[in-house]
Parts: sequence; C-alpha cells; structure tokens
Amino acid sequence: MPSLQTHHTFHLPAQCQYIHHFSSSDTFLDLWHGSATNYLLGGGSNTLFLEDFEGQVFINTLKGISYRETKNSHIIKVASGENWHELVTRFLAEGWHGLENLALIPGSVGAAPIQNIGAYGVEAGNFIAAVEYRDIQTGETNERMGSECLFGYRDSIFKSALAGHILITHVTFELPKKYQPITTYGDLAKLTDPSANEIYNTVINIRRSKLPDPDTLGNAGSFFKNPVLLASHYQDLKNEFGAVPGFSAGNGVKVPAAWFIDQCGFKGKTIGGVRCHPDQPLVLTNANNASGDDVISMAQLIMQTVNERYAVPLEPEVRLVGSAGAITL
Ligand SMILES: Cc1cc2nc3c(=O)[nH]c(=O)nc-3n(C[C@H](O)[C@H](O)[C@H](O)COP(=O)(O)OP(=O)(O)OC[C@H]3O[C@@H](n4cnc5c(N)ncnc54)[C@H](O)[C@@H]3O)c2cc1C
Repeated sequence: MPSLQTHHTFHLPAQCQYIHHFSSSDTFLDLWHGSATNYLLGGGSNTLFLEDFEGQVFINTLKGISYRETKNSHIIKVASGENWHELVTRFLAEGWHGLENLALIPGSVGAAPIQNIGAYGVEAGNFIAAVEYRDIQTGETNERMGSECLFGYRDSIFKSALAGHILITHVTFELPKKYQPITTYGDLAKLTDPSANEIYNTVINIRRSKLPDPDTLGNAGSFFKNPVLLASHYQDLKNEFGAVPGFSAGNGVKVPAAWFIDQCGFKGKTIGGVRCHPDQPLVLTNANNASGDDVISMAQLIMQTVNERYAVPLEPEVRLVGSAGAITL
C-alpha cells in the first residue's frame, strides 16, 4: 500500500489503497467513479490522515495559467493544481499585485477558495473573480462568480453546500492595476509606503520566524479556527477574566483561539508524539512519531478544556480523515 506520509504536512505514516496523480479532469472523473471510497487532495496542508485510508487518494496536478487584461485589472485564470506560493511569487515577478500578503501559505490554488485562505489582513476571496468546477456526479462544468462563492472567515460555498461534490479546476483572479498596499495587520503596520515586494519579503520573514516549517516539523498550520463570539458573550468573558483579546468581525467578536489554548496551559504540552507548539499554541506539531490517536487526544482535550472554562466551542480548521473518509471531533 502506498504511503501518504509525504502527501500531508502533518506527516503521519498513513497508507491508502492507491494514489492517482491526475493532470486532466476527465481522467479524474473516470478513475473516481471506478472506486467507492476516495479522497481528493491538493498539497495536503489542510488535511490530516489519522490512520490508513481504505480507499484511493487523488492528487491534483492540473496545471496552466492564462492572462488577459482590462483597462484597470489583470485577469489571470489558473489551473487548480498550481502551487499557491509559487503563484504569488510569479504574479509579483510579473508586476501583478494583490496577493503578496498571502505569501508562503502552503497548498494548491484549487484549495484556496475552499476555506478562503487569509493572512495579514487579506483573504484570497478579495481577489477571486470566478471559480470553475466540475460536478463529480454529472461531470458538468460550472462557474461561480466571486460574489456567488459566499466567502467568509475560513469559509465559502465550497465548504458547505458544494463540499465533496465538486472538483475545482480553475480559479480566476482579478488584480487591480492600481497598487493598494494592505498594511493594517501586526508588523506590516510598521512599514512606510512599502512596495509589494517589501510586503512579500516581510510576510515571508515573519512567517519563517513564527511558524514551524512542515518539512522539518510536521504540522497543519492553525489547528483550530478563531471563534467568533456574540458581543454579549465576549463582554461576559472580559468581566470574568479581564483582558481578553478580540477583534470586531461582522456580527460578533473574533477571539484568537491561541489565547484560550494558552490560558488553559497547553503551550508546549505533549500527548504521545504530539506537541502543542511552545510559541504558537494554535499549531499542533508532530514532535515525535505521533499517531492519529495522539492527535485526537490532544485536540479533544483542548476543545473540552476551553469549552468547560470559557463556554467556547473550538472548531478544527484542519480536515481530519479516518479510514473511511473525513471525520469530525
Ligand atoms: C505551515 C502552514 C501554514 C498555514 N498558514 C495558513 C494561513 O496563513 N492562512 C490560511 O488560510 N491557511 C493556512 N494554512 C492552511 C492551508 O495551507 C490552506 O488551507 C491551503 O489552502 C490548503 O491547500 P491544500 O492544497 O494543501 O489543501 P488540501 O489539504 O490538499 O485539501 C483541503 C481540502 O480541500 C479539498 N480540495 C483540495 N483541492 C480541491 C479541488 N481542486 N477541488 C475541490 N476540493 C479540493 C480537499 O478534498 C480537502 O477537503 C497553513 C497550513 C500550514 C501547514
């Protein structure tokens, strides 16, 4: 059985029945229908195989980029198997700005709209004009405009109504020709009139200094989503616990999940081979030949402890896959 260890960034030693690398959507559909249990994978940076998967895994290698322009915008249609960070780098080299705040996020272009990847004040959905996909059952090709993708915080229609039913084949970006740096977030605010390249380099430096590199220490980035609380709940927490960090988020207050995890004493804690990162408690790491059970035990203990103490249910951001498919904790 082929190993999935190098195909997901947490690097647990799971295996599966077969791995297909597909470079055409027709091939993907043909092979997919030949097997009952399947999983579609991009870069495996938001997926964690907890144990051996009793089915076939399909790795997306759809490639290609096409360009056109309007008076005010660069319009770039990108195949979903392209690598996200390489794309951001290539756009900058062409002088096309907008995605520089999203440098160094691992994974494929096709997964970017699914959880509307975001970092340093920018979300991919801000620049996505359209997403093209094939219905896995019917093979039909459809396109959804960015405004129809229901982008939200780590969310979109591809994570809800369309989840599991489609293969995203292309993402079309619209990047304004007028340069508009976004420096609202954290250390970027210290930059004065930065060029897109400066933002790109600064983001890369910050990320390298703060986040463990999955190639050397297996991890899946932020393990939990930051909870968005009702304003009244947030106020209750502040009354009881003093300074609780929070940021206005549409209909509520977003509180860093890392704060809750830190307050509950998990920083640097180990269960089996899994360690809650000592500097970034939102990141669980494969510190010492972790098993899927170690991951589940650590995640459940964190969720239970935070909920008991603060009445805040944390939700994993990472997709957890068991022997028969995706599971929820
Ligand atoms: C070190 C590290 C840092 C990270 N930092 C960030 C960050 O700053 N911001 C952020 O938002 N995320 C971050 N992430 C999470 C991750 O990089 C993103 O979610 C990324 O978009 C996942 O891409 P992927 O191709 O690896 O997805 P995968 O894990 O391969 O797949 C994720 C899900 O999407 C589905 N899928 C994949 N491709 C397709 C397709 N073409 N069509 C339909 N469904 C598909 C899969 O079935 C799966 O359910 C980080 C992860 C790591 C490891």
